[in-house]
Parts: sequence; structure tokens; C-alpha cells
Amino acid sequence: GLAGMTAALEMARQGFEVHLIEKDSDLGGNLRNLHHTIEGHDIRDFLDSLIKQVENNPLIHVYKNARIEDIEGYVGNYKTRFKTETRSFSSIKTHQKVDQKKGQPMDNHESDVRNNKPDMQEIEHGVIIVATGAQESIPREYAYGEDKRVMTLLEFEKWLSSEEPEIRHPDPKSVVMIQCVGSREEDHPYCSRVCCTGAIKNALSLKEKHPDADVFILYRDVRTYGTKEKYYREARDKGIIFVRYDQDRKPEVQSGKNGLIIKVMDPILDRDLELEAELLVLSSCMIPNEGTEDLAMMLKVPLNTDGFFLEAHMKLRPVDFATEGIFMAGTCHAPKFIDETISQASAAVSRACTILSKNTYQAEAAIACVNEDICSGCGICKTVCSYNAIEIVAEGEKSKAQVTDALCKGCGACAAACPSGAMEQKGFKSTQLLAMVDAALE
Ligand code: SF4
Repeated sequence: GLAGMTAALEMARQGFEVHLIEKDSDLGGNLRNLHHTIEGHDIRDFLDSLIKQVENNPLIHVYKNARIEDIEGYVGNYKTRFKTETRSFSSIKTHQKVDQKKGQPMDNHESDVRNNKPDMQEIEHGVIIVATGAQESIPREYAYGEDKRVMTLLEFEKWLSSEEPEIRHPDPKSVVMIQCVGSREEDHPYCSRVCCTGAIKNALSLKEKHPDADVFILYRDVRTYGTKEKYYREARDKGIIFVRYDQDRKPEVQSGKNGLIIKVMDPILDRDLELEAELLVLSSCMIPNEGTEDLAMMLKVPLNTDGFFLEAHMKLRPVDFATEGIFMAGTCHAPKFIDETISQASAAVSRACTILSKNTYQAEAAIACVNEDICSGCGICKTVCSYNAIEIVAEGEKSKAQVTDALCKGCGACAAACPSGAMEQKGFKSTQLLAMVDAALE
């Protein structure tokens, strides 16, 4: 999608080779379902040009219909295996600095990509940018799926931009939109962020094409973030009617022969309204894309309670995972707008380039180390490590903890948790700490 393609292009602009792994048969993600922004920019043209730039960039290798099977390694040293239906490369070079002016590789790094089987690929790479996106959920209420006049926000956008008479009603007299369908409720307590703006955008387009149509937006709160508030005002000026409803008194929908009847209690008029509509549009909740959980497990990175990827720190490391070398961009992190996605993708690339642009990666000095003679391989250290720096590896019939030096941040959590004292921190071993205590007491 947008985040992945923007990140790939930005990365290529810095001279790094990129492998873009796409699970669909086409690039574009959610952008394929959108036609214009609320500011009036043409998304189709933008998307076409973005895809062309990505597909024609010699540093970007695109794999479509791809499924990641396995990711192993750590910062600067990842190995990813995936299945793909597209052509396979027998000899290409990965994350290799290329002279942009000459278009030539700057060193003669050997091939990092091998074809294990016709449809299995393996790549060695230095960093990972996760940009798996989100999707519009399927509504489970308001007669969606039972009456074809009930549609989602994205379906309505397609309807609005279609010129086909069998898809598009030639002259809609009345359209009702219901906001917060599935969002800000027990299952999905978060705001989906984009749907109020999306509904107002579509309502304004509808009014432009059909000025006599009545448009009602039934909302719980109108959240047109930032400067988009002006479009809310514009919508009211143009006669779009906003009716507030409470979560414990949701609108009711009845399908009739001549149209839909939507009953809603208007708290300002303090009376029930009955709205007749030819179309009902539901702003349904944005949810993480399928496969997000599997990928999180493969990468050993956390998801938040809503199922989106969780950043290392909301303010200090907003595009990083706690694990070094893995970054995120786009709606896999949370629902967001196009401009926000582009900014975040650029930020993720900047962060990733701080690693790729160095010849050597400097690890922390005071990292954890294992006394293998007493380690029982219980795995407690692994569970408390926030940086995925510890693996439990089998050694004969026994298991032992093993520290990945490049990932360890030297926080000492494992040393404190180890019940047998096998895990210690360099520079702060028990003997050293006790010597310090003795010295302090002398
Ligand atoms: Fe509800 Fe608006 Fe938030 Fe969407 S953006 S969840 S409609 S408040």
C-alpha cells in the first residue's frame, strides 16, 4: 500500500536496494478504493504514478502474491523466506549501496537471494519496515448484507465515482450515513479516525453532483481531525444535516419496498425522527489486516490491545519497535490519513537509514551474558526481555539461554529475573557488585 511504496521509494532514493513483499496481486492497498481526498486531490493519478515509480525503480524488487514463511536473525542480519507466484531472481544484490549518479553498485557484494524452490525465495537484509495496513471491517448491524441499499463508506465512494447506471442510482433523493459503526464500542474501543472526514467528503461530493439530494449524517461525535474541521463547517453550510445519537440508543433501520426507513432519536429536538433513504452508508470500523498477528509472532514484536502494531515509545520512538532494526509505517500502526501515512513512511526510512548507512553497528557495552555451567534453560530471562535478545537453544539433551549481543540493550531485566544467577550483566557481575558493596562499607 501507500506506506510500503512510499518507504520503498524513499529508501531507494537514499541508494539502498529494497525488497517489497506484497501479499495481494496488485500494489496499492486501500488507496485502490479511494478516488479523491477531501482537499480535492486526485488519488487515482497519484496512485498510478506511485506504482509506476516503484515498478520502474531498478533498486526496488516487487514480489506480488507473496506469503512470508519465516523471518530469522537480528538487526543488520535478517533472513526472510517467502513464497511468491512472481518471477524469481537467481542473482540479485540486497541492501547494497548504489551510486545514484552512475546507477552502479558501489561494491561487488555477492548475490544474497537464492531460489530454494521455484516459488520459494530467501532474502538477506539489514532492516525491516512493516507496512501491512488495515482494512474496513464488515458491518454486523443496520441490515448490512441483507439489503443491497446498505453499503460501507468505501463501497459508497465507489458508487459515487461510478458512471455505470446499474451501479449508480441516477438521481438519489435521500442518503443517510451512520458513523461509528463498530468503532468506539466494546470490541473496538478506538476511533477509526478517517471515517468522519470520509463521510463528509462523500456527502460534499454527493451534494455537488445532486444538489437537491437530502443528506443526513448520524454521528456520535464529529471528529474531523486538525484543519479538516473546516469541511464540517462547509458541509453544514451546504445543507447536510447532522443528527447526534447515543451509543445506548442507536438508530434503527427498516427495509421497505420504496426505500429504507431509519429511526433515530434527535436529542436537540428531543423527539424521534424517521428518515427515508434510498441509500444507507455505514462508516465501519478500521481493523488491522489479516495476518497481522502471525507477522507479529514471526517478528516477535508486540501488538496493542486493539491489534495494531505497538511502537517502542509514542513520543520518543514513534516509528520504531523496541527490537532494533524493525520499523513501522501506515495503518498497521493505527488508522490514519494519507498525508500522515506518507510522513510516517518517510520517518521510518530515516530511522532505518541510520542503521543501513553505517559499515558497523555498535552494540551496547554492558550487555547480558550467560554462565552456561549453571543455566538450566528455564526461559524466564527470555520472557522478561523486551528486546528479543535471548533465545533458548538446545545443547544435547539440555537447553541453554543464548544472548544476541546486537539486540541486548543492557537493561539487566534478565539478570534480575534469573533464579539461578546464571544470567549476569557485563560490568555488573555479582562478584563486581559485591566488591562495590564491600568497598562502600569499608
Ligand atoms: Fe466515529 Fe468519526 Fe471516529 Fe470514525 S472518525 S470512529 S465515525 S468518531
